[in-house]
Amino acid sequence: HPPVVAEDLGKKYTRGWALRDCALEIPAGRVVALVGPNGAGKSTLMGMITGLLRPTTGRIAVFGDVPNGRGMHRSVAFLTQAKPLYPQFTVTETLRYGQRANPGWDQAYAEELVRKAQVPFAAKVGTLSGGQRTRVALALALGKRPRLLMLDEPLADLDPLARETVLQTLVEEARAHGITVLLSSHVLAELENVCDHLVLLTSGRVRLAGDVDQLMRQH
Ligand code: ADP
Ligand code: ADP
Repeated sequence: HPPVVAEDLGKKYTRGWALRDCALEIPAGRVVALVGPNGAGKSTLMGMITGLLRPTTGRIAVFGDVPNGRGMHRSVAFLTQAKPLYPQFTVTETLRYGQRANPGWDQAYAEELVRKAQVPFAAKVGTLSGGQRTRVALALALGKRPRLLMLDEPLADLDPLARETVLQTLVEEARAHGITVLLSSHVLAELENVCDHLVLLTSGRVRLAGDVDQLMRQH
């Protein structure tokens, strides 16, 4: 099964539709950019993939399973904008938390990612720079050994250098381990050099979706 398949997917909040008529397939092994202006429906789509939000219309399947609202698919890791890392925890304690919370946890891999990021294990998360904190959050997400890693606006609070290293880490790990990556941004330019698949969302509708090289030939 592909990481995500959606048919006729829609989500209506009290004030109206945030997503409509969404037909989508996220292919395995790609780095997928989910791009659209603020309010386009990116977080809403991600919320339905995680199962946090229930669709109003249509169907969605994650690795062939319908999200049941009782927690995310075990092969999915999700980094939200809020990056819920306890600031008073050290990096070591943060990884220990990951280990406790996740059955398939790979401690050696998580540690390797922290070492690559040159973040001290004894540092409290709250003292780290935005880029370092994101790299620790990535280690925490990738330590689960997910097959799909989703990131909601992971670059929003970062300086240009941190953006580059975070993207580089993402792409390297995705390629090395065959992880499908779905990351959102309201700035296409941030992702155009790293993504090989693009989904463009505006006003709750998918306007364009496909492999980048194919889209370049068609348009
Ligand atoms: P519920 O349906 O459980 O009452 P709410 O609609 O109150 O949930 O909101 C759930 C979350 O979404 C809250 O964190 C809230 O801040 C956020 N939220 C509410 N309205 C909006 C909005 N228009 N845009 C973005 N986030 C919103
Ligand atoms: P994006 O992630 O692209 O910025 P969202 O999915 O957060 O878009 O929002 C899509 C639309 O749905 C917006 O109009 C937003 O205000 C609205 N919205 C998002 N969350 C909620 C919520 N919990 N309750 C009501 N409206 C919401």
